[in-house]
Amino acid sequence: MKFFKLIILKEYSILFWLTIVTIIIIISLNIYNTNKINQVAQIQSSIDNIYLKKTIKEITSNLKPRYDSLHYISKSGDTYQSIINRLEINKTEKKILLKTILNEKSLKILKINQKFSFKLDNLNKGNIINFKIETDKKNEIQFTRSNVENIFKTKKIKKNFTKNLVYKETVILGSLYNSAINLGIKPNIILEFARLYGFQIDFQRDIWKNDSFQIIYEEFTNEDNVVVDTGEIIFANLNLQDIDYQLYKFEYEENKIDYFDENGKSIRKTLMKTPINGARLSSSYGKRKHPILGYTKMHTGTDFAAPKGTPIMASGDGKIIKAGWCGGGGNCVKIKHNSTYQTVYAHMYKFGRGIKKGVRVKQGQVIGYVGSTGMSTGPHLHYEVIENGKKINSQKLKLPSGKILKGGSRKNFEVAKIKIDVLKSNLLAK
Ligand SMILES: [Zn+2]
Repeated sequence: MKFFKLIILKEYSILFWLTIVTIIIIISLNIYNTNKINQVAQIQSSIDNIYLKKTIKEITSNLKPRYDSLHYISKSGDTYQSIINRLEINKTEKKILLKTILNEKSLKILKINQKFSFKLDNLNKGNIINFKIETDKKNEIQFTRSNVENIFKTKKIKKNFTKNLVYKETVILGSLYNSAINLGIKPNIILEFARLYGFQIDFQRDIWKNDSFQIIYEEFTNEDNVVVDTGEIIFANLNLQDIDYQLYKFEYEENKIDYFDENGKSIRKTLMKTPINGARLSSSYGKRKHPILGYTKMHTGTDFAAPKGTPIMASGDGKIIKAGWCGGGGNCVKIKHNSTYQTVYAHMYKFGRGIKKGVRVKQGQVIGYVGSTGMSTGPHLHYEVIENGKKINSQKLKLPSGKILKGGSRKNFEVAKIKIDVLKSNLLAK
């Protein structure tokens, strides 16, 4: 019994020591943790230290580059003033810039697609060190701030680009877009081609297999013969079921360029047939079974199926009379073009920049993006044309041609046309 007691005591003592060791471990762990917390708090408090804060700020501001470069490409409707207003500089600086630009003769007229780049000094906040404006694809003017304050020295710079005229032709087998891409035509030229023909051609219905096209456009290459940019379309012909639809680029007034057919008629119409690029006409105007309501109903517009986010263009110049929710039409835009015509664009995913009631828009300007809002089964544009208050079939719309060249400008056009035709045969012979 005594022996047994001893064993128990021994066992108890092991338990005792075990407990002691455990307690020591717990305490030391605690001390370690408190130390760690203290250390973190110390670091935290040093970060909060104003002096250090200032130092960090200085370090990071020194890491930020001293100069910022800003680039912009002019669009239709821009003015030098509106471009300058985009810069984060003070009023005086804006005034100086505008005055400098307007003093430069070769910049009298602001064209679209002109490239601008500005270099801003981050230390001398609100100061432009230098800036460049492209006068055309091959030339630019450089403005450098001189030591005398508020004066910029100008320098004309010739870029080392070579302008080439490219001729391409093909039979359309798949889609027009794919046939053009297969020929190595750059996408922006294809989009411009589609935009120009968008006045008269319904790309879904009018283009058949074995139709063909020809195109002459400008391309710019650098010293290494790499294409760096594309210019304008000079000539195009779309042959649809053996009918030629030709267009010639022509400067009908100083700095005013447009496209005309072989008879000197502007291809530009009051309204475009297809206010969207690369879309598939999915439902035409007329009676149809409504995809959601189920019963037969008059479809008072034309549907173009296109991926969500595809830009939608204003089909003509006009004033926005609605940009908001239209119930079944979802997000919609309504434009009044003149006393006769209005157009409606429905189911938009979102509106274009600055598009709201009362705003004037230009033909081809992006007013919104394809979506599926309202009563819709998938992303598409529902496009309506209203003539004298009555909804009509936009695809059968025969609008009078815009400008018809007469007198002196017609004579000049005939000369320009012959030159382009000669150019075409030369390029073909190559
Ligand atoms: Zn529709």
